[in-house]
Amino acid sequence: CGVFGVYAPEEEVAKLTYFGLYALQHRGQESAGIATFEEDQVHLYKDMGLVSQVFKESILNKMPGILAVGHTRYSTTGSSRRANAQPAVVETRLGSLALAHNGNLVNTPELRQELEKRGGNFNTTTDSEMIAVAIAQEVDRGKEWLEAAISAFQLCSGAYSLVIGTPVGLMGARDPNGIRPLVVGTIGEDPVRYVLSSETCGLDIIGADYLRDVEPGELVWITEKGLASFHWSPKPERKLCIFEMIYFARPDSIMHDETLYTYRVRLGQQLARESYVEADLVMGVPDSGVPAAIGFSQVSGIPYGEGLIKNRYVGRTFIQPTQHMRESGIRMKLNPLKDVLAGKRVIIVDDSIVRGTTSRKIVKALREAGAKEVHMRISSPPVTHPCFYGIDTDTQDQLIAATKSVEEIAQQLRVDSLAYLSWKGMLEVTGEDPNSFCSACFTGDYPIPVPENVKRSKLI
Ligand code: 5GP
Ligand code: SF4
Ligand code: MG
Repeated sequence: CGVFGVYAPEEEVAKLTYFGLYALQHRGQESAGIATFEEDQVHLYKDMGLVSQVFKESILNKMPGILAVGHTRYSTTGSSRRANAQPAVVETRLGSLALAHNGNLVNTPELRQELEKRGGNFNTTTDSEMIAVAIAQEVDRGKEWLEAAISAFQLCSGAYSLVIGTPVGLMGARDPNGIRPLVVGTIGEDPVRYVLSSETCGLDIIGADYLRDVEPGELVWITEKGLASFHWSPKPERKLCIFEMIYFARPDSIMHDETLYTYRVRLGQQLARESYVEADLVMGVPDSGVPAAIGFSQVSGIPYGEGLIKNRYVGRTFIQPTQHMRESGIRMKLNPLKDVLAGKRVIIVDDSIVRGTTSRKIVKALREAGAKEVHMRISSPPVTHPCFYGIDTDTQDQLIAATKSVEEIAQQLRVDSLAYLSWKGMLEVTGEDPNSFCSACFTGDYPIPVPENVKRSKLI
């Protein structure tokens, strides 16, 4: 999911949030929502669909306020339906709170039981609403906003990057492991106003300046007085999801002081050092495989070219293709360039293989377009384990590398050769302390303990 928030009484906060969400659209295409706070009143609008489908200018114009919270949803817990769209708004003794969540809690069954025991009611099936209800319960027990949020976080286990609106201020928080990203930006000078966004691309679009990341286990509280910071976790530990860097976040977003484009080019360079093969053309699977393909070409000396064109407007259509169209496979989204591919030995680079279904269709399309050889190179190691922290990589039995060797996968995809980036190579390129990432989908080493009953639901 994508989360965004802005505190700026002199600005049109709903519009700024709209554009922030527009830049974070890649983080979730199922639903979009914005809540603004105007004194004691909350204006909430959310629906299924893309940001541009959900909002019209006339709607945003009816959402005044001093601060706003926004969300784009990609479902991991709770089904895909309108009621589960965010922000989740809950009433408290101190007025409403509106919460936007990115990540996934791992202790939802226990948490729900505990909150129900305390008299909590739920409108949805999401872990996100549970966090909102937990905070509201703490407020109703007499706590102020900050204390209430910190107490509620003690009940939560898992991944959560949160943006929370209240009548008096905006909160931003990351779980003690900082699994999902969250950054702070500024707009204006006197007074300085603050913006929260999942990624820096959400700041760029509204002309905000990147200030810093929200730290793991940190809560920032943004009000009329500016930004105050609270490090509430006794044991914060950096465990940023490495998949954010490899694939999920936008290439123009900045992490560890560089764009992810530059990082992904380096992954491709390393991949070429590890698994060179003779060929005529290096191409990427649009769009996610392109930076690594460029890096592969640079080191291998094999020319880079485009062999597949992506329809940038496919997004999510609610109209089902005809049976005939379905059988013709990926063409709706990716169309091969026959005159580029005919007779060529092709290296096709992608960021990852999850189920292998897309990859197989792509290989078939390249061959039908006349490619003589197809060599696949992947700029991350084999995905062998499911994610419990908010990226929807299916159950383990759906992951092609969970049960198959690289050779068996190559056979199934019908490629002439297949190579993944090594674990060591990936970490070398990343340059940071290898312990400062979650990379459980490549290793099964989950940094936040996953309860057995939850584990069983996804592991073979
Ligand atoms: P596959 O061949 O496994 O079907 O698809 C691989 C493609 O899916 C890659 O291009 C990669 O960018 C993309 N991908 C990687 N991770 C995810 C994910 O968590 N969810 C979805 N839907 N796609 C992903
Ligand atoms: Fe990211 Fe994989 Fe860890 Fe999930 S398990 S948080 S996708 S690195
Ligand atoms: Mg891709």
